[in-house]
Amino acid sequence: MAQIIAERHPDAASDVPSVVRAFQEWIAEVELDEPTWEAVRCMEDLKNTLTARQADVTVALHREQAEKDAARGFVLPSHTDRVVAAQLGLARRRSPVQAGRLLRIAHLTVAAEPVREAMRTGELNEEQAGIIRRETDGLTPEDRDRVIEKVADTLGRTSDRHLSDDVRTAAHRVDPELAARRAEAARADRHVSLRSARDGMAHLSAFLPAVEGRACLEALRKGANAAKRQPRPEKGPDRTPRQWMADLLVHRVSGRDPVTEPVDVHVNLVVPIDSLISGNEPGYLPGYGPIPAGEVRELLSQREDGVDVRRLFVHPGSGQLVGMESKSRFFRGLLAQFVQWRDRRCRTPWCGAPIKEIDHITAHAKGGATSADNAEGDCQWCNLVKEHPAWHVTGHAREVLVSSGGLQATTRPPLVNEPSQAWSPLEEYLLDLEWRWALRRASGKDDP
Ligand SMILES: [Zn+2]
Repeated sequence: MAQIIAERHPDAASDVPSVVRAFQEWIAEVELDEPTWEAVRCMEDLKNTLTARQADVTVALHREQAEKDAARGFVLPSHTDRVVAAQLGLARRRSPVQAGRLLRIAHLTVAAEPVREAMRTGELNEEQAGIIRRETDGLTPEDRDRVIEKVADTLGRTSDRHLSDDVRTAAHRVDPELAARRAEAARADRHVSLRSARDGMAHLSAFLPAVEGRACLEALRKGANAAKRQPRPEKGPDRTPRQWMADLLVHRVSGRDPVTEPVDVHVNLVVPIDSLISGNEPGYLPGYGPIPAGEVRELLSQREDGVDVRRLFVHPGSGQLVGMESKSRFFRGLLAQFVQWRDRRCRTPWCGAPIKEIDHITAHAKGGATSADNAEGDCQWCNLVKEHPAWHVTGHAREVLVSSGGLQATTRPPLVNEPSQAWSPLEEYLLDLEWRWALRRASGKDDP
């Protein structure tokens, strides 16, 4: 092995990326003899050891950036943390928010010797280090070390649940007031959120105090039992107890029975223009994600039943929504809406969070136009990262280039549909007419 590294990379001894790359190439190609569970265990240990060393490098780079920013004198520590998290995201191919969590885990790994040792020898994985970080959040470094000391013997030898319970219990003992403060902060963070799920479904979640959550579920269970006992005509078709509870939740929140009363909402639906002809292209529901062709047809056919569907067409030639321009300095109205529809999610590589701001790629102050081609959708977090001088965004909407800390990555807007079949000149003319009509209709009074 050492010989292979020496052959492929003569100066590898002093160059970590070369050593790691050489080992990666070797392990990727090497013939594996007898498959054994011991081999699987060794590989798992190696991943953990690499994670520990990754943490060492990450924390060293964070310190380096903090020194540079302190020398500059005008960058706040929180700005440094943000750009380092974003750089770690570029390096580890994660969203900046996920990378922020990994950055905190890296700091814990380096600071807490028992955690570092258990990970370095391969026993502890990054998720378990994440549990320790979460459960010791808010403790002083001294208290945190006392907690970790209490569980040090079990690291890498216990289930995630046991580890979480043990660390939490030890933390409560070390700082009894902290639990109360954390509970208060958690209550203040109560909220409701929606995320898309498989097959045209969504998860509606509420982050509530545990007793409230239990009370809600109990109320739905009782309500579902009562609804089941109603006479046949009022209760509609047969439903399982689980379905009754879900329908009752919709009923109590929106005032409408989802089975017996049609939905009444305004829906923006991005559909390729040729889906009106072939009917087989999937559509895209902004804020949700891709939806299958059958669902598109159903939504379009429900129009008279209270669904106000605004169809946004995609040009058959390019597969993308067309561009627009504004003389204003800011992205507003239809242009802003257009970029939101086009980019769908934050454009930072591996981010994918919901878009909160539409921003210039080349700054307006540097002569960048307020046009769809010079615009990108950003989440709030990534919009703030762009303020740091070590984070550079260039290019145009068709290919945004992000570079920082010696790494680069590009993103393109999602194709709304597959490139179309070849059209006859007459079909192209008719599609173009329909396209112009759709654009005018989508723009309403707010002309591009
Ligand atoms: Zn983002």
